Amino acid sequence: MPDQSHTPPSRATQPDLPVQPADVMAAAARLDGLAHRTPVLTSRTANERVGAKVFFKCENFQRVGAFKFRGAYNALSQFSPMEKERGVIAYSSGNHAQAIALSAQLLGMPATIVMPKNAPDVKLDATRGYGAEIVLYDPETTVREELAAEIADERDLTLIPSFDHPHVVAGQGTAGKELIDEVGELDTLVVCCGGGGLLSGCAMAADVLSPDCRIIGVEPDAGDDAARSLRTGTLQTVTNPDTIADGARTPSLGEVTFPLVLHYVDDIVTVSDEALIRAMRFLWERMKIVVEPTGALAAAALFEGIVDPSGGRVGAIISGGNVDLARAGRWFATT
Ligand SMILES: *Cc1c(COP(=O)(O)O)cnc(C)c1O
Repeated sequence: MPDQSHTPPSRATQPDLPVQPADVMAAAARLDGLAHRTPVLTSRTANERVGAKVFFKCENFQRVGAFKFRGAYNALSQFSPMEKERGVIAYSSGNHAQAIALSAQLLGMPATIVMPKNAPDVKLDATRGYGAEIVLYDPETTVREELAAEIADERDLTLIPSFDHPHVVAGQGTAGKELIDEVGELDTLVVCCGGGGLLSGCAMAADVLSPDCRIIGVEPDAGDDAARSLRTGTLQTVTNPDTIADGARTPSLGEVTFPLVLHYVDDIVTVSDEALIRAMRFLWERMKIVVEPTGALAAAALFEGIVDPSGGRVGAIISGGNVDLARAGRWFATT
């Protein structure tokens, strides 16, 4: 059994890392008045269950229903006049698509979004509704990264990925900054992890604002690549993990996020899909908030006792709330 605890080397500024805590602070200034300052909720029942005081930062109430607006807007707002005129391209079947489309609309630039042709109509309509051009592809025959790169090349568009970009990471970190600004220093901060943009951004915010805070990432059991990457110190991958946490089906951490996770994150744990559904049920029923499976990862790890809450003040990021209600009904009926 490998040692599951990981002690980050030092919390001093690391000039060789691709993003600095100061970048998160600069992103917060750019997003001021544009991103919603989402509410922090608490629940006495949740506190009793976890055995600590838990502060839930509710990014399900963010614009487009997830924290992704933060990173997208922070990236697009730093385009040069030439890049802005030509426009942005992104590929996503999920929240990043809408985040890029809305940010581009707000900044008055064209957006092209590459989406699978089997994406749910609600997502296609929402993305189109923000004025983006949608390019559909067949996931059976097309590699979306290649298609997006081709179109970017042809039309001179700037590609913004959903996590592996310094400006995206810095933007996502503003969720963690707002949480600590509002409630004060924390003993532990628990954050879901797909490609690690939200996790590494929030970890940098905590490094400045709550230096003694432990940072814990949470992945679905089936997509435990980041947990293995942190433990082994080498980048691990996973292929098409079977989990309802669709925001965390990413194959691996990225070039930008991996070194940040290694440096700033203390541990990464995993939870089962059943635990996610139990956590969603609690969040919906008791706290009256609609949370998607990926958005419930951090809460699930706390509710199931997988994260040690010692110290008593715990932050948990609820990352998003975009979920098909009919599917959610089926999950609740069977778990
Ligand atoms: C994208 C997303 C994640 C994962 O974020 P990363 O920055 O890729 O780790 C988690 N939850 C929701 C709701 C998301 O949209």
